Amino acid sequence: MQMQSFGAACTVTGSMHLLTLGGRKILVDCGMFQGGDELEARNREAFPFDPGDLDAVILTHAHLDHVGRLPLLVKLGYRGPVYCTAPTAALTETVLLDSARLQVDGYRRELRHARRRNREDEVLAPLYEEDDVHRTLALLRPRLEFGETERIAGVRVTPQRAGHILGSAYLVLETPEARLLMSGDLGNRESGLQLDFTPPPEVDAAVIETTYANRAHRHWEGTRAEFAEALRTSVRQNGKILIPTFAIERAQTILHTIKELMEAGEVPRIPVFLDSPMATRATHEYFEFGDELIPPVRDALQAGEDPFRPSTLHVVPTSAESQRLNRYDGPAIIMAGNGMMTGGRIQHHLKHHLWKPSTSLIIVSFQSPSSLGGRIVAGADTVRLMGEDVAVRAQVHTIGGFSAHADQDDLLAFLGTSGTPHVWLVHGEVDVMEAFLPVLEGRGLKGDIVPDRAPVDLLGAGFASGRPPGLVSPPPRNEAPVAGGE
Ligand SMILES: [Zn+2]
Repeated sequence: MQMQSFGAACTVTGSMHLLTLGGRKILVDCGMFQGGDELEARNREAFPFDPGDLDAVILTHAHLDHVGRLPLLVKLGYRGPVYCTAPTAALTETVLLDSARLQVDGYRRELRHARRRNREDEVLAPLYEEDDVHRTLALLRPRLEFGETERIAGVRVTPQRAGHILGSAYLVLETPEARLLMSGDLGNRESGLQLDFTPPPEVDAAVIETTYANRAHRHWEGTRAEFAEALRTSVRQNGKILIPTFAIERAQTILHTIKELMEAGEVPRIPVFLDSPMATRATHEYFEFGDELIPPVRDALQAGEDPFRPSTLHVVPTSAESQRLNRYDGPAIIMAGNGMMTGGRIQHHLKHHLWKPSTSLIIVSFQSPSSLGGRIVAGADTVRLMGEDVAVRAQVHTIGGFSAHADQDDLLAFLGTSGTPHVWLVHGEVDVMEAFLPVLEGRGLKGDIVPDRAPVDLLGAGFASGRPPGLVSPPPRNEAPVAGGE
C-alpha cells in the first residue's frame, strides 16, 4: 500500500494522491493549487507520472482544489473512468466549466495588454479550455453511492458520507492485504446544510485532512447569532453590505441563513443580490439533490419551498446588470465571488464601496494571507483594486464559524471509531499538523506528516519524529484570523 502525494502534502491545496494497491494505480482527486502565484505555478508542473498509466481516478468531492486539474490529466492522455457520487459529478461540471472560462478570459485579457507592450510571448496559455472539460465530463462515472461497495481497479472501494459539501465522500479501500481510509475533506459536524459524516469502520491506516486540526470552531448557534448581529449593525449604517462568497456550499448556507433570519424577524428584509452565476448554477444542484441535506432543509424542499431564496432575493445574471448595481441606492446585501476577493464580480463592488464608511464587508470564508481578502483582514489601509488604490474605510466583520471543515474535536471523533493504529496527515499547514501530532499521541495514535511527492508505505513504520525527513523549515503560518476553508 504505497501513496505518493502530488498536492495537499504539507499544504492545504492541490489535492492529488496516487495510490499503488496490488500493482494497480488509483489517483484520488486531481485538484488545482490555489492561493498565490508561487503555489499556482505548481499547476503548470508536469505530472510526475504518465496519466495514461493510471487504472482509475476517484473524486472525493467537487471543490476546485480537488478536481481542478482533471481536464489537464485528460488533455495529457488519461482515458479511463473517473468515479464519484452523482452530486459530485453535477457540481464538477459547474466547477470545471467555470474554471476553463476564467482561464480563457484571463488569457485573452492578458494577451490584449501584452500586445501593447509587444510581449505576447510572455503570456501563459490556459491550462485547458472548454473542449477539454467536455472530454473530461464524458469520463465521469457518477455511480458511487454512500455505503455501497464498488470494485475499482481490483480494489473494493466503499464511499461514505463526509459531510463537507454536497456529495462529498471519504473512501474505504480494501485489498486482501489491508484496509485503508482516505478522508478527502471532512465536514464540520455543525454545518448549516450537511448531515454529519458517517463514523468510519475499523481500518489499518488512515490518510486524514488536517485543515483545522489545531482549533475549535464556534458552535452553529453562536455563528448564526454573530452573523445576525453583523447584518443588523450593517443595516443601521444604511450602506451596502458586501459578502464575498464561494459559489459552492457557502453561498447556499448564507442564502439559507439570511432567509431564516429575515423570516424570524431577526434581520430587516432588505434586498439581497446574488451576483454570482456560478453560485446560481450550484444552487440548482442543491435543489436537485436536496434529499442529501439536513432534515429542515430537505423537508422544506419536499414541501415545495425554496430554502435558498430570501423573499427579497434578486439573481444578477449578466455582468452588465452587475455593473448597474453600482448605481443602486439604499441598503442592500450583495453576495458575489470570489470568496477571497482575488477576482470576479466582488472586485468592482469593492472598488465602488470599500472606501465608504457606511459600507460593511462581512467575511464568511477562509482568506489566504496573500489574497486581497487576507490583506483586508490583516488591517490594510489601502488596497489595489482593478488598477486603482482604494482606501479601506468599510466596517469589516469576520465570522469564522461557517467553516465546512472538521475542527480538532470532529477529527478526533472521526478517528475514534476507525481504530486505526496509524494516521497519515495531509491537507494542512505544517505547523498545524505538528500541533496535532502530540494530540494524536495522547490518544495512543501514531501520526506522520505525509511528505510532498516522496512515496510512503502506508502500512510501514513511518518517521520517528512524525515529520518526514528533509522537511526543515515549515512554510509561513496562515495568520488570517478567519476560520472557514473550502
Ligand atoms: Zn473541499
